[in-house]
Amino acid sequence: MPKSFIQISDSHIDDEKLVMGVDSQANLASVVEHISKQSYDALVVSGDLSHNGTMSSYIQIKEILKPLNNNASILPGNHDNKSNLSKIFSNSLLCNFQLNDWEIITIDSVQNEKVSGRLSNQQLQTLTDEIKLSSAKYIVLCLHHPVVPMQSSWNDDLSLENPEDFFDTISQFPKVRAVIWGHTHQSSEFNRDSIKLFSCPSTAVQFCGPSSIGYNHYTLHDNGEINCKTRWL
Ligand SMILES: [Zn+2]
Repeated sequence: MPKSFIQISDSHIDDEKLVMGVDSQANLASVVEHISKQSYDALVVSGDLSHNGTMSSYIQIKEILKPLNNNASILPGNHDNKSNLSKIFSNSLLCNFQLNDWEIITIDSVQNEKVSGRLSNQQLQTLTDEIKLSSAKYIVLCLHHPVVPMQSSWNDDLSLENPEDFFDTISQFPKVRAVIWGHTHQSSEFNRDSIKLFSCPSTAVQFCGPSSIGYNHYTLHDNGEINCKTRWL
């Protein structure tokens, strides 16, 4: 049986119920309820868990996520307060994990006080080392920011600032099969050479696309293929 994992993103939980015109707490709870009925092996939360980074918002998120007792790997987004996030999710922050022949490697693309992301030379070196040292046959990379133009009304200036440095780093490793991200509140799929690229919808509200909320469910096949199905509620 192929393994699978679920990605949720951009829940934007705040101390106020209404965020960007929606009840982001209720929406995340609905997504969690949907996921709790699925069969999957791991969970990735790709940033902007909180809208304003308050400690109380992270306590709230932890409570809402409780029904999902799978191992979760949590990534920061530009809306998150890394210090508060790491206090509440200390055991799962930026964890890499392996499922059969696949490893999911997480990357922190957030810059201080900026909406757009960037990867430093040191981070790219660390990523190179992680890929080299991985015993997995296939690798998925996960970060908060998009690494290609979104071909939508999304402002690409708010994406990763140095995608070419990123692709220069990973293109030497054919075992990197996919890159996944959040931030853009939309579901989309692209290809770059043999690498599949997926963006995950928001559990709160989409910037462009359907008025529904959703998440991505990835299936990892033994032959190195990865499939993604966006589930809409
Ligand atoms: Zn974001």
